[in-house]
Amino acid sequence: MDSNFGFNSAEHQAAFHEARRLTQRGGANAPICGARTRAGTVCQNLPIREGKGRCLHHAGPKAAREHRARTYQDFLSGKISAGDWSRAEARRAANRLGWEWKRDPWTPGSTIDLGEEEGRLRADLRGRGVDVDALPPAVADWLRWRFRRTQIDRRDERGWMRVLSQHLSARINQAAERPAVTANVLAGRTWTADTEAGSKRRRADQPRAPKVERGKGYLRRGRPRTQPPEADEADELMRVYREHRTIVAPMMSACPREEDRQLVLRALRDYLDNPNDMRAVSCWVELVRRLRPT
Ligand SMILES: [Zn+2]
Repeated sequence: MDSNFGFNSAEHQAAFHEARRLTQRGGANAPICGARTRAGTVCQNLPIREGKGRCLHHAGPKAAREHRARTYQDFLSGKISAGDWSRAEARRAANRLGWEWKRDPWTPGSTIDLGEEEGRLRADLRGRGVDVDALPPAVADWLRWRFRRTQIDRRDERGWMRVLSQHLSARINQAAERPAVTANVLAGRTWTADTEAGSKRRRADQPRAPKVERGKGYLRRGRPRTQPPEADEADELMRVYREHRTIVAPMMSACPREEDRQLVLRALRDYLDNPNDMRAVSCWVELVRRLRPT
C-alpha cells in the first residue's frame, strides 16, 4: 500500500496542499479579494495572481489584461484545457458586448443560444405580434435570457408575462430607433472620417482639465483611514476638543465609530486653520448639518 497518496515526495505533497489552500474558500487562511462591493459588503472572490490581491472583477484593467496573457500561456503549455480557455474567452467577449450594448443597443451580437428552444420562443412571440429579428440585438438577447429563466430553467408564467407586458416595451423605448449608421456597420464595418466644417475633429486640442484634488475623506465613500493619528495630531485634536467641547461633544456622541469622531475633530480643525478654504468650510458645514441634534 502506497502511503504517499500518489505524491512523488513529501515536497510534492506540501506544494500540493499549499496550492490547494489557495483555492479553498471559507478557511481561516483562504485569501479573499476584500474589495468593498456596491452593496457595502466585502467581496469574497478569490484573488487573481496578478495585481494587488484583488479578484478579476476588482483588479482593474491592467491586472485583468495580464491575467489573460498568463492564462493564454497556461493554455499553450497545457496547464489549462482548451475548454477552460475558450469558456474564459467567451465570457470576456460577452462582457465586452455587454459594455458595447450600454453605448449602442443596436450593435449586432448575442450572448446566448437557445438551441432547440429558439423555435418555442419564436412561436410564443409570434402569437403576441413580436418579431425577434426586428428588436435591437441587446433587447433580443435580454429577452432570450428571460425566456430561459422563466420557461426553461424553471417555470414562472407570471414572470414571463411581466417581461412581455412591462419590461419589454420599456427596453424597446429606451433603445430608440434603429440608427441609420447601423446599416453601414452591418454592411461591412466601414467608417468614414467626419470632414464637415463643424466637426469636433477640426478643433484644436483642448487643454487638459486640472488634476482632481482629493479631499481628506470626510463623508466620502472610500477606503477607511486605517492609520491612527500621529502623536502631535492627537494633541492638536485634543486641544480642538477642549476649546470647542460644547459644539463637538454632542456631534461626536452621534458617531458610533472612533474614526468618525476623529473626522469631526479634524474637520473643525481644518476649518479653523483655513476659514477661507471652501472645501474645509463645506466639509465642516456638512458635518454640522448631519450630526447636530435637532
Ligand atoms: Zn472582488
